[in-house]
Amino acid sequence: MLLGIDDTDSKKGMCTTYLAAILVEKLQKYGVKEHPRLIRLNPNIKYKTRGNGAVAIEIDADEGQAAEIMDIAVQKVEEMAELEDPETNPGIVLLDHITPEVEKFSDRVVRDIVTIKEAMDLAKKYGVVHAFKNGRGVIGALAAIGFSLKNDHTYELVAYRHRENWGTTRRIDRTSVLEADQSTYPHTWDTVDVANEVTVFSPHSSCPVLFGIRGDDVDAIKRAFKMIRSEEAERHIIFKTNQSTDAHIIPGNIASAKNGCSYILGGTVVKSPHSIQGGHVFFTIAENGHKIDCAAYEPTKNFRDVIRQLCVGDEILAYGSVKDQTLNLEKIEISSLKDQFVLRNPACPKCQKRMKSSGKNQGYRCRKCGTTSQDGEHIPVLRGLESGLYETPPCARRHISKPLIRMSGRKIHPSR
Ligand code: ATP
Repeated sequence: MLLGIDDTDSKKGMCTTYLAAILVEKLQKYGVKEHPRLIRLNPNIKYKTRGNGAVAIEIDADEGQAAEIMDIAVQKVEEMAELEDPETNPGIVLLDHITPEVEKFSDRVVRDIVTIKEAMDLAKKYGVVHAFKNGRGVIGALAAIGFSLKNDHTYELVAYRHRENWGTTRRIDRTSVLEADQSTYPHTWDTVDVANEVTVFSPHSSCPVLFGIRGDDVDAIKRAFKMIRSEEAERHIIFKTNQSTDAHIIPGNIASAKNGCSYILGGTVVKSPHSIQGGHVFFTIAENGHKIDCAAYEPTKNFRDVIRQLCVGDEILAYGSVKDQTLNLEKIEISSLKDQFVLRNPACPKCQKRMKSSGKNQGYRCRKCGTTSQDGEHIPVLRGLESGLYETPPCARRHISKPLIRMSGRKIHPSR
């Protein structure tokens, strides 16, 4: 049986992954499959608390045990969820198998926006549902069960804090984190942001999470975990996840890109990058007569240095989410860089002296011998940029975004 849960936390506390870790312990008597699922849903959903994650646990039980399993889950959610927060609307779903319809729905939850009613109808059609308050969490609970990890997946080990430490500053030895990262990267990633000199694997909120180690190799993740010196973890668990897979990205085109979804959009730079107050950088791309503004916001830090070097005529693939008709960039692939030139007064063909301008659009004249010329000299400008893929740094990366170190067969410029 598959038990999905979502929307149990609030900005003030709790975390649905922690509830899952507790439930895994509670459900051990039935037998729980290793690595519960942590599914990141559409990152553009306004209702999300933080990373729009939902969880699902696979249990060795049959339909006859559904009622007791549901009772255990409901009791835990009642006990632990932030139910008094108006934005917390937990949902629990229990299915005994995944149908193609559920899988298709889950895909839409990761890439698009769905309604509570759709989720409720579908969950009731194939399984058992328990909805708290407006039941919005049923959307994520069902999607966590149904999202396929067959094509791609990664893992995250999440360590949790003892309850008496919740809300206090996390005690984690920074040097040990750097060492753990050094010795396991690139099989673990986004533990530290080397360029921006910050550790990024640990939240600053009052939630129960101590830290999370992401990677593609469970042994490397466990090795990193052993190396990190910190306050004692109350428990830890390894999730199988669609994090770091770009599961949210739809191959699209500018004409049909809509707010709230995430795309790869191909286009030519038609307006060069400019910065506005606050350090946000904007430029415009076009494809078949349709245009879209692209943004690299201040938190994307050194990624903006790449973006600022783009020029009109460059061909790119832009990855990101559309909000207010603007593509918020997560990464770009520069397919071709347009040759750039500066115009210089030409040398006189007779006496080799540099000619003088005769005025705007009036060509050039040699002061010495009087020779005239209409054409200036085009000097190629060396581009400080190479083609290939560039990404936002770890400190600005979304859980679901695929780091470039996971992309093979293409020229990559990983941000570390
Ligand atoms: P955490 O990951 O820390 O548990 P969160 O960031 O996942 O918190 P939630 O508290 O779960 O945020 O709130 C997100 C809500 O949005 C959930 O109720 C979920 O069911 C709903 N939701 C998620 N994806 C979609 C979607 N694509 N369309 C509509 N609703 C969605």
